[in-house]
Amino acid sequence: TAKEAGHNRYQFYSEDMTARAIERLSLEHDLRGAVERGEMFLVYQPQIELGTSRVIGVEVLMRWRHPARGLISPVRFIPVAEDTGLILSIGEWGLRESCRQAQLWYERGLLNACISVNVSAVQFRQTDFVGIIENALQESGLAPTNLELELTESAVMQGAEPALNKLRELDALGVKVAIDDFGTGYSSLAYLRQFTVDRLKIDQSFVRDVPGNNDAEAIAAAIVAMGLNLGFRIIAEGVETEAQAEFLQSVLCKEGQGYLFAWPMTAIEFEAWIAGWQNRAGSTS
Ligand code: C2E
Ligand code: MG
Ligand code: MG
Ligand code: MG
Repeated sequence: TAKEAGHNRYQFYSEDMTARAIERLSLEHDLRGAVERGEMFLVYQPQIELGTSRVIGVEVLMRWRHPARGLISPVRFIPVAEDTGLILSIGEWGLRESCRQAQLWYERGLLNACISVNVSAVQFRQTDFVGIIENALQESGLAPTNLELELTESAVMQGAEPALNKLRELDALGVKVAIDDFGTGYSSLAYLRQFTVDRLKIDQSFVRDVPGNNDAEAIAAAIVAMGLNLGFRIIAEGVETEAQAEFLQSVLCKEGQGYLFAWPMTAIEFEAWIAGWQNRAGSTS
């Protein structure tokens, strides 16, 4: 009967929600101590100058190898880490490890570009945020100009005054700041101009449908044009095809990152990749 069906449906939803709540609790539980147990690791994705194919940066992305569940995406564990405050310790580990790895690559002559580290709004809000960055730089020996922090629009917009001061302090240190997923938040470019931001990362949702979709093309072109006019460097995320890369160059977006060039790679994979890439780039120039 319909009544039974309704009842069953209710039960289905309720069990589903319970299952999700349990899953979340178990993730929360397992996330505690994950760094100490060595379950977190970092992968590296190059950023490319479209006109020359030069590597101009490397973004660091975090991975969690769960002992029972296997690889868990940051899309799932970062929000849990943020809600529980665990992001402070996990994020600081990621930052220090990124700086250490980048400095090692500089010293071995493997890398001659900026390393970009994603920073959660929760981390950025900490009173001592800039101090933590300074410590990571000092401990690793990495030059501040070789570090870029990727913040989201909402992280920068919230609590305008302290955010403004932190960005100024980072700028004074020489650390660069990029706005990640640009175009998906509520900030206006005009408003962003008062912040000492170096680079905008155009969200991959604006890259996905170019070329071919007129609206997508117009939006992507407008973001690049306004961003450049306001003095920002612009990089496109999620570049997967030659056609996308060509379109981006045609609207004067000079930098790209995505599967077309390379997937995020472990440190060892990255070392092999960059050697091959430089040979290729070197032999054609
Ligand atoms: P994001 O910073 O915007 O990173 C870009 C995401 O796009 C990454 O997903 C990357 O693997 C993926 N990607 C790269 N190239 C392509 C492409 O050509 N096509 C498509 N479809 N995707 C591409 P990932 O690694 O799963 O990370 C997801 C998000 O998790 C990141 O988005 C970032 O917001 C967050 N995240 C990752 N690592 C960290 C971290 O260490 N700290 C913090 N706070 N957040 C992180
Ligand atoms: Mg990012
Ligand atoms: Mg992004
Ligand atoms: Mg994102």
